[in-house]
Amino acid sequence: MSPMLEVSGLSVAYGAIEAVRDVSFVVEEGQIVSLIGANGAGKTTTLRTVSGLLKPRAGTVKLEGREISGLPAHTVLNLGIAHCPEGRRTFGRMTVEENLQLGAYTRDDDAAVQADMKNVYELFPVLGERRHQKAGLFSGGEQQMLAIGRAMMSRPRLLMLDEPSMGLSPIMTQRIFDTIKELQSQGTTILLVEQNALAALALSDRGYVIDLGATTLDGPGTELLADERVRSAYLGED
Ligand code: ATP
Repeated sequence: MSPMLEVSGLSVAYGAIEAVRDVSFVVEEGQIVSLIGANGAGKTTTLRTVSGLLKPRAGTVKLEGREISGLPAHTVLNLGIAHCPEGRRTFGRMTVEENLQLGAYTRDDDAAVQADMKNVYELFPVLGERRHQKAGLFSGGEQQMLAIGRAMMSRPRLLMLDEPSMGLSPIMTQRIFDTIKELQSQGTTILLVEQNALAALALSDRGYVIDLGATTLDGPGTELLADERVRSAYLGED
């Protein structure tokens, strides 16, 4: 069977700037896979290309064996890939509930949408308690929960999360990582981009290191955590 997602030899440029030159990785169904690497390594560009926001210059992106690169973003979303972007991007003037409803805009199965909203409120009780409040009033961590909840509302098979722990306190970061595990146990496949390599690898079935636009190292999360090259480059050890 083809993997859920297979990216091969990906190259993406912004004009003359080659942000991604040779990225390849595989996400099997049910896994949590993380892409780690320094600032500017090309992680965000990779996610934006998978979700159809950018077109690759070379390489392929396959969803269960089907080539999807070049398809528009709404088609990719309809095929089951949701993208929770860096920096949260919730709609501040809309309520929690309205933000979540937006995440479900491609769906017409109202009863299931209601059930999924209930699931989001169970995962993040604070969102349920404040569902009629405007998102702009929320703390960074609460907005991150809302952004993840909104991405879940499309009922994705593959959820891509870009830097979900950015700017969060250690407690809130732990809560977000616990939720990612919970989502996996509910059957969602996860592709995670993180600066917080330690926490991401500890949680991941597989990790890939991206360095200057290319995947350079990969392995099971726990193996990469123990790898000296990873420890010195990304975990701040000598
Ligand atoms: P970070 O964790 O800092 O977001 P990243 O690994 O996600 O880093 P990207 O955001 O993908 O990296 O950026 C890869 C390279 O592409 C960087 O050199 C960046 O400056 C460049 N880049 C990103 N977006 C653009 C853009 N819109 N126009 C031009 N160059 C860009």
